[in-house]
Amino acid sequence: MSAKDPGKLDRVIAEARRAAEKRERSYREQALKIYPWICGRCAREFTRANVRELTVHHRDHNHDNNPPDGSNWELLCVYCHDNEHQRQVEMARGGGGPSAADPASTYTPFANLKELLAKKRPK
Ligand SMILES: [Zn+2]
Ligand SMILES: [Zn+2]
Repeated sequence: MSAKDPGKLDRVIAEARRAAEKRERSYREQALKIYPWICGRCAREFTRANVRELTVHHRDHNHDNNPPDGSNWELLCVYCHDNEHQRQVEMARGGGGPSAADPASTYTPFANLKELLAKKRPK
């Protein structure tokens, strides 16, 4: 009678893990219902076939903060999500990271805009 069920702790852990997974699935489903299936960074569009590459990012990085209106969620593709957290890590370090090696920081979408405009200019 005095011996405690040795499997109890395991069960509790398994249950907690299951609850966390369930919670994750449910906020993901919620977010996918609220927001269009588009990455908030690179604007890549997703369909049922590849939606598993679309992830839910927490704006305040607190996974327990899941307001039902979705205000703390942002849909990001796995790559941009990775980038987002990488940047957070670098900021936490004091911004002294290897920024030259980061393609995101050197990406300039309008670098050739001048060129394009010059080409289009009528004579
Ligand atoms: Zn993206
Ligand atoms: Zn995130």
